[in-house]
Amino acid sequence: MSDRKRILITGAAGFLGSNLCDMFIAKDYHVIGMDNLITGRMENIEHLFPLENFEFYHHDVSKFIHVPGKLDYILHFASPASPIDYLKIPIQTLKVGSLGIHNCLGLAKAKNARVLIASTSEVYGDPEVHPQTEEYWGHVNPVGPRGVYDEAKRFQEAMTMAYHTFHGVETRIVRIFNTYGPRMRLNDGRVLPAFIGQALRGEDLTVFGDGSQTRSFCYVDDLIEGIYRLLHSDYAHPVNIGNPSEISIREFADEIIALTGTTQKVIYKELPVNDPKQRQPDITKAREILNWEPKIDRAEGLKRTYEYFKSLSEEELNRSSHNNFDKYITR
Ligand code: UDP
Repeated sequence: MSDRKRILITGAAGFLGSNLCDMFIAKDYHVIGMDNLITGRMENIEHLFPLENFEFYHHDVSKFIHVPGKLDYILHFASPASPIDYLKIPIQTLKVGSLGIHNCLGLAKAKNARVLIASTSEVYGDPEVHPQTEEYWGHVNPVGPRGVYDEAKRFQEAMTMAYHTFHGVETRIVRIFNTYGPRMRLNDGRVLPAFIGQALRGEDLTVFGDGSQTRSFCYVDDLIEGIYRLLHSDYAHPVNIGNPSEISIREFADEIIALTGTTQKVIYKELPVNDPKQRQPDITKAREILNWEPKIDRAEGLKRTYEYFKSLSEEELNRSSHNNFDKYITR
């Protein structure tokens, strides 16, 4: 058997999973991708199939996982990750964050592998502390529309820490803030694909609420680099990875209008329930422990992302029209 490091990536066909597959392939790892393709897309990983150091399991990580041979690392990135997705598939969202991580940790224990889990800024809920440090425990509504995601991710962190302290499994936890870039799904309901899709289709841009809520957007390549560094660090507690450059959604719409040159206007829709009012990562820990900070600013990242969306077919663009938010905003 080759002495390549072997890494299992769950959610391999998703936005982040597929970008991680590319990076570990480029670093000459043997990558085992796993995905049940509920929200993942084969198009994201098709180019890897001819490679001898890539294999793919079409499998639901919430069910028992078997991977033959040695395993050095497991990255658990399988999960719906947008409010629209987890409203459509709430039970699967809860299962992948609970049963899914249990399977990954059990496998890690059996194989003596190190696990890194994708957590999220959603563990902070609608935060009362700003910017958010890892020490903040959060302000989450467990029974609100986002509860299935937020609580699954919080449980996932708890389970991971338990395997670390009780079984001595080596674990890493990344809390990912809003991330964007090529391979985001146009119809996942997130603000960036929503706005760019609308601009490309000649529709008005839908700002929810008055647009004063803020987010801080990180370009995917920066995030992937941060994850790589965290995986290879010796730090088992959660680390925020995100870009602290914060912007209101209304201003963000203006940036997309300028970027795309659309002549459409902004229209306002009802603010979804429990939509966080503000979000900005405190990345002091990532700076100190990982010597990491984002390098790609929004202007550059948005340009690259727009190029990707422009390259999609007309058919895909039209298929992606969304806006069925009725359930989301029902109180
Ligand atoms: N948003 C918006 N218009 C859209 C989609 C989203 O104004 O068409 C807002 C949404 O209400 C939220 C922000 O953009 O305040 C970011 O939403 P997203 O779903 O991308 O991520 P999250 O809320 O999970 O950070």
